[in-house]
Amino acid sequence: MTVPLLDLKADFDPIASEVRSAIEGVLDTQRFILGPEVEALEQEIAGYSRASYGIGVSSGSDALLVSLMALGIGPGDEVVTTPFTFFATVGAISRLGARPVFADIEEKTFNLAPGAIEDVITDKTKAIIPVHLYGRCADMPAIMKIADEHGIKVVEDAAQAIGAEINSTRAGSFGAFGCFSFFPSKNLGALGDGGMVVTNDRELADRVKVLRAHGSKPKYYHKLVGGNFRLDALHAAVLRVKLKHLDQWTLARQENANAYDRMFTEFGLLDKVTLPYRQSAGQGNRHIFNQYVIRVEKRDELKIYLKERGIGTEVYYPVPLHLQECFRDLGYKQGDFPVSETASKEVLALPIYPALTQSQQAEVVNAVRDFFLDS
Ligand SMILES: *Cc1c(COP(=O)(O)O)cnc(C)c1O
Repeated sequence: MTVPLLDLKADFDPIASEVRSAIEGVLDTQRFILGPEVEALEQEIAGYSRASYGIGVSSGSDALLVSLMALGIGPGDEVVTTPFTFFATVGAISRLGARPVFADIEEKTFNLAPGAIEDVITDKTKAIIPVHLYGRCADMPAIMKIADEHGIKVVEDAAQAIGAEINSTRAGSFGAFGCFSFFPSKNLGALGDGGMVVTNDRELADRVKVLRAHGSKPKYYHKLVGGNFRLDALHAAVLRVKLKHLDQWTLARQENANAYDRMFTEFGLLDKVTLPYRQSAGQGNRHIFNQYVIRVEKRDELKIYLKERGIGTEVYYPVPLHLQECFRDLGYKQGDFPVSETASKEVLALPIYPALTQSQQAEVVNAVRDFFLDS
């Protein structure tokens, strides 16, 4: 039995006919960019995230970029974020000529440590970008408190966390902006690239809308320099179908996570494998498990071993951003963010997609046990 890291086809098959008819609907109208499907999705995602406004954009990366643009971030400004994230979080800061300033993460959650943020705030700090990594919310109550005390804006990178909660509040609805990605491997995936910005601030929403279409308002009159950050109607129509299934998929992911927890425990592997940290749901936490990430010391060997057994895994992310070549000019070095650096050597994401079966999961855990027996 092979167990892929992701099986988009298995997740898609049960909804194929619904998706096909949504696509037909767009073909019938021949309206391909923005329009009624995008507007409907914007309202639905805003509602789902419990934010007031949604603005459909071309990707999660562009959601981050246009949010920072709307806050007027540019040269001379500093933006605090985590070095343990996907490149796009930091790329957005750099592309605007602002300086990314890193703060280390919490060992248990892999998310920004509020205390570390406070240590690096200066009078140039204009924004903080917490990332809700793997589908678990960063400590938003603490981060918002720090931001408010210093008069700093927060842009949430919620690309991996649609529907996640902390303090019974949804990812994306805490800060000035929340940014979602509809990249196909995210929990709510389009047929290609897509994204969404949500906000509770009407003026900021209007600004993002204008920036999304080259800063044009009214048409062909430009007060701002924006870009082409528009979302396609085809993606919106398909996402609207998929959104109706999202809670059920999230539940399946959570059940898969529980099954892994149980199996790793029953197989006596807890001295070899660190399971994802569990926060009590009673405190208003909702982890949506975009990834189920274990920590192991011999991570690279285990990854190769599992591959030979037909099991797909991935490392998110092998090189923390402060050590990336393109950010060498920032002057960071090995040892600056030890928690992130150790995490990048130990994390391994296992298959967790909704259609994964218990026997596939048992195959994965069996193979992990065999690895430790053999080595
Ligand atoms: C996927 C992702 C992005 C970028 O989203 P795209 O839609 O691929 O541009 C940004 N940040 C994080 C944390 C992501 O996982």
